[in-house]
Amino acid sequence: MSKAYAEKEIWFLTGSQDLYGEETLRQVAEQSQAVAALLDGSDAVHARIVWKPVLKDSEAIRRAVLDANADDAVLGVITWMHTFSPAKMWIRGVDQLRKPLLHLHTQANVELPWDSIDFDFMNLNQAAHGDREYGYILSRLGVSRTTVVGHASHPAVQARVGTWVRAAAGVDATRNLRLARFGDNMRYVAVTEGDKTEAEVRFGVQVNTWGVNELVAAVEAVEDAAVDALVAEYEDLYDVADELRAGGARHESLRYAARQEIALEGFLTQVGAKAFTTTFEDLGDLRQLPGLAVQRLMAKGYGFGAEGDWKTAVLVRAAKVMGAGLPGGASLMEDYTYDLTPGAELILGAHMLEVCPSLTTAKPRVEIHPLGIGGKEDPVRMVFNADAGTGVVVALSDMRDRFRLTANVVDVVVPPADLPHLPVARAVWQPRPDFSTSAECWLTAGGAHHTAMSTAVGIEAWEMFADMSGVELLVIDEATTRRGFRDAVRWNSVYHRIAQAL
Ligand code: MN
Repeated sequence: MSKAYAEKEIWFLTGSQDLYGEETLRQVAEQSQAVAALLDGSDAVHARIVWKPVLKDSEAIRRAVLDANADDAVLGVITWMHTFSPAKMWIRGVDQLRKPLLHLHTQANVELPWDSIDFDFMNLNQAAHGDREYGYILSRLGVSRTTVVGHASHPAVQARVGTWVRAAAGVDATRNLRLARFGDNMRYVAVTEGDKTEAEVRFGVQVNTWGVNELVAAVEAVEDAAVDALVAEYEDLYDVADELRAGGARHESLRYAARQEIALEGFLTQVGAKAFTTTFEDLGDLRQLPGLAVQRLMAKGYGFGAEGDWKTAVLVRAAKVMGAGLPGGASLMEDYTYDLTPGAELILGAHMLEVCPSLTTAKPRVEIHPLGIGGKEDPVRMVFNADAGTGVVVALSDMRDRFRLTANVVDVVVPPADLPHLPVARAVWQPRPDFSTSAECWLTAGGAHHTAMSTAVGIEAWEMFADMSGVELLVIDEATTRRGFRDAVRWNSVYHRIAQAL
């Protein structure tokens, strides 16, 4: 199986102590290697699980943690106390851990050997209380972690470890993310504002701005041969409207879109950015608002936010990385308009142009239509329906004293009609638990109008991502009630203020 994060490692640390003698410690080493190998061999786990020698004292634990912190290949650390590992030995280590932690509560055997069990067996297989001793010190120190319980061969355990690896990869991606903005936020808009310095503290992302005329110069410098090749790729991959094809009356517009894609990708590569924003209010001498180019770059894994919305661009990039290799995709999305038919309410999500084709398995159509705002030439865009299936929409709001993630689990559906006059890509969905509860809770949370829609990774990955990033997350799903959600918003306000002050 090829792993989505083949270059990345998760270190598997096993706790024990010197008390047991060589023979027992040899078995601890063998069996913990077997547990690590089970996880490493799982189709659900997409980084390399690297076993490390059994830890028996405080200094070895501290050194292992510092080494994990320092190694850029390490996404996170899994710990397991096979025997009893007195937890004061872990204080100096886990207190300094700066990477995601998974506490695996497992044991070497599935069934107990009831007929042969003796005290040697009991001496070796003590995780049932060894992990409790360890859990105590993690809780006492306030160490954030994900706890996974069960045998390493169980599919549910492997799936949860796999999701945690994906979340850790998302956190690693944002901690190493550079985001390039062309222009500022849309004028007068509130929720797309935010504290870029705090974003770097919290998520690690570096958010910086470039003058759009630098992009204009790059667009003009693209060579015709490169445009020829990319346009041929478009005609091959997509259902391109006749007027845009070679020989068509508006072919030059498609060529200009290709020019934008090449220039944008080159520019982002040059500055090391894996996410970016544009704004229709600041296009300089660009002839079109980039539509097709943005859609193509999102499909290649770039994060994107429209109207200067860098916070949503961060989420789209995180979603791209967390969902790597899975069916489905991730995109900028916006709750656009509703069908309010009682009992059958639907949300039509879309944007002016920029919805990522990773949301569909169908062949997108490439079309050109006027854009009512921005005062530029008509932009080229891909038009399609997002595939039906389960998804999550996630928004990031700056609440002044902290960031808040709001997420809604949704069921994307086949649109009830063809929408022949709608000139943009779209997704139609039913939010859980139901339309009115979802929208009421979203508005109560102050969730943004831009979201990252992910149909590849689910809510569990986002919960882990939020925990690892130390950011509030409010979830709206099938278990949500109005009263419970309103209370959670109030309690969270107190909790997050106190937690940050400590
Ligand atoms: Mn928008």
